Amino acid sequence: MSLTLTRTDLLKEQNFIDGQWCDSSSGARYEVADPASGAQFAAVPASCAVDAAQATAAAQAALPAWRALPARERARFLKRWHALIVANTDDLAKLMSREQGKPLAEARGEVAYGASYVEWFAEEAVRSYGDVIPAQVRGKQLTVTKEAVGVVAAITPWNFPLAMIARKIAPALAAGCTVVAKPAEDTPLTALALARLAEEAGLPAGVLNIVTTSRDRAQDVVGAWLADARVRKITFTGSTAVGKLLACDSAGTLKRLSLELGGNAPFIVFDDADLDAAVDGLMAAKFRNGGQTCVSPNRVYVHDAVYAAFTQKLAARVEALRVGPATWEEAQIGPMINARAVDKIEAHVRDALAKGGRLVVGGKRVNDGVASGPNYYAPTVIAEANHDMALASEETFGPVVPLFRFSDEDQVVKLANDTPYGLAAYFYTRDIVRVARVAERLETGLVGINEGVLASEAAPFGGVKESGYGREGSRYGLDDYLQTKYRCQGGLA
Ligand code: NAP
Repeated sequence: MSLTLTRTDLLKEQNFIDGQWCDSSSGARYEVADPASGAQFAAVPASCAVDAAQATAAAQAALPAWRALPARERARFLKRWHALIVANTDDLAKLMSREQGKPLAEARGEVAYGASYVEWFAEEAVRSYGDVIPAQVRGKQLTVTKEAVGVVAAITPWNFPLAMIARKIAPALAAGCTVVAKPAEDTPLTALALARLAEEAGLPAGVLNIVTTSRDRAQDVVGAWLADARVRKITFTGSTAVGKLLACDSAGTLKRLSLELGGNAPFIVFDDADLDAAVDGLMAAKFRNGGQTCVSPNRVYVHDAVYAAFTQKLAARVEALRVGPATWEEAQIGPMINARAVDKIEAHVRDALAKGGRLVVGGKRVNDGVASGPNYYAPTVIAEANHDMALASEETFGPVVPLFRFSDEDQVVKLANDTPYGLAAYFYTRDIVRVARVAERLETGLVGINEGVLASEAAPFGGVKESGYGREGSRYGLDDYLQTKYRCQGGLA
């Protein structure tokens, strides 16, 4: 199906460097495919280190003037950009759904969600307060100011093509930093459309630069930024494995790092939980974006006493989910991003069933009717899951719910924490003393208590342990792009 946009200029197929739309210096390009059909529908630059360096030079040249602008003026730009993003919601959602596969209603939701960070940081831009510290001796004044970190390189994944990059660009620009960014290979178009709207909002040349590239050249582009002393910070969302590489490879120039990495979220249903609320919460947390979300519950622990009732309620809801392409307004689960993703889901399900899991719903690829295509997988529930299964220790990143049994609070908290990851955790209980006890013991950056939807521009999003460090959103999110300067002025007595 052809992609019909009201504003055809939002489909950009070039890099955005120094305020210009341009091809890679090598001229190389790669095709962008629709995950629903596998059909290629656009092509963008397969950039290399030379393009990355050009982007850095542009960002470095633009930095002094952008950083020197009064925060109020940077905020005005962010507000104009926010208004344009919101005004073009339908086109952005269509573009995002086409390259990423998520249902249109979810894509519209993501535009609103991503835009909310732009608005939030427009409001925070004017609040990067410093301090005055009482001096210990006469004649001195001690002040603390916050300054922009400098040029920031943003590297983002494919699962939230708009929100992940907006969540980085907005605080960076608000703080007075300039940006070079590389979106994921699978989803470059939404990022380029955002850049087009930033251009329209009047952003000065070089303040925001987008460089696209193919997977085989990602290391080339990002490596150029890692090695470049002009880039003062890397902000990355993606897998823990790549996050660790970036941490190692940025050590040569000791860059600031924000790493929003993988998760393995536990979701605990205690025996006193409101089961209907827990099922609602799990459906919202698990099946958004087809389960391809870093905060998706990956391990669902259900107390023995309510295991059968919970399984039955959940199975009915999962069975009713409608699988299909983004273009079908009723779709709730779109295609997975690519063939590798479906292969991983299939391998996890096969492994779980071989190790004693009981298939309750789904458990197979879908390729018929409205959901005809290579990358669909049926929403799946597997009962009697255990910790020998791969899905207990690795992110499945798909619409698969494994149900583990537990009988005791201590036991389930230990199991929940028994992972190198620490991004999100959820639990349902009506016992307020248990709420305080369990929330404190869970080793994660985010905790959902009787709630399945956690993310908000007003709250700090980020992990602990191997889920990374740094926070996005809220006032804490601005700090990640600011450095502290202490001034000591003498001779005042
Ligand atoms: P990924 O493979 O780590 O890729 C993320 C980004 O890094 C992409 O732009 C990718 O480019 C690039 N990249 C890959 N290999 C690289 C290398 N060797 N050097 C430099 N850059 C490299 O992750 P993904 O599969 O796109 O995303 C899924 C992961 O992201 C999951 O683990 C998920 O939990 C995590 N995630 C975390 C959060 C959070 O906030 N904590 C949010 C969303 C997703 P290519 O696209 O070209 O490979």
